[in-house]
Amino acid sequence: MQLLEGKLASAAIKEDLKNKISNLLSAGKRAPHLAAILVGNDPASETYVASKVKNCKEIGINSSLFRYDSSISEQMLLEKINELNANEGIDGILVQVPLPKHISEKKVINTISPLKDVDGFHPLNIGNMVLGFPTFISATPYGILLLLQHYKISTQGKHVVVIGRSNNVGTPISILLSRNNDYGNATVTLCHSRTKDLASICQQADILIAAIGRPKYVTTNMVKENAVVIDVGINRVKDETKKSGFALKGDVDFDNVAPKCSYITPVPGGVGLMTIAALLQNTYNACVE
Ligand code: NAP
Repeated sequence: MQLLEGKLASAAIKEDLKNKISNLLSAGKRAPHLAAILVGNDPASETYVASKVKNCKEIGINSSLFRYDSSISEQMLLEKINELNANEGIDGILVQVPLPKHISEKKVINTISPLKDVDGFHPLNIGNMVLGFPTFISATPYGILLLLQHYKISTQGKHVVVIGRSNNVGTPISILLSRNNDYGNATVTLCHSRTKDLASICQQADILIAAIGRPKYVTTNMVKENAVVIDVGINRVKDETKKSGFALKGDVDFDNVAPKCSYITPVPGGVGLMTIAALLQNTYNACVE
């Protein structure tokens, strides 16, 4: 069994981007600039945004963090997004979700310029992704592709089973891997909460991708010998031994499943780090393309 280490793969992507940004500056051009909007103070969102800002800094991407109280009106937030859309010094805009209930995520996503939508959530970018046109691919599925590429794991002709059909993970990764290109050409089965006999479908997977949101849901009886297992799940599980009072666990019962696999991602240290690397790559692309 080999670990698919997001730490190594993301470090390689970050090093490459750092060099490219340094070349931009040497050529008299400006560095990419990401604008991040955080509404409220959800602890997980705080952590994610802080990590994105820190990673930008490490490789020379400028970032601006705009923080708002959860009472901000939808209109004010949309106005801020429009202001950032019009600002030629800003290449990428991300609005951390979840948002307070009185703000429509759909309206927020639709307001971000598709040319600055580095999270790849805008319907126009999703449409381009489905059709295989150049676009911003949303960060988590893009991160999974980059991880597979880093470890030279071919998907051609493989049976990929994806558990979870969310708009930001399960659905896009199932589409991307089924397309006719270098990182696709897999035969993909997309499973969800209404799937019958999930275990027997998962057992057929050469590559199993779990994006469910339930700790240790994928157990050994669901995994074929020598399968590649990609665990997208990030679940906070109570743990008195931790200062924070919780530990982060994936959707896969790692300790028992790992010995059966050819490759498996750890949680933390797997897909989460790749998601950030993919966001950095999208922000760089937004600046230069
Ligand atoms: P989500 O929107 O809640 O979607 C979960 C999906 O899992 C749904 O499609 C649901 O089916 C399916 N599901 C739930 N219970 C199931 C079951 N018992 N059997 C089969 N399918 C089941 O979640 P998400 O946003 O995709 O996130 C999934 C996990 O990934 C979470 O732990 C999240 O924190 C994590 N995540 C990690 C990253 C990262 O960077 N590593 C990024 C995003 C998300 P239905 O559609 O039928 O309800």
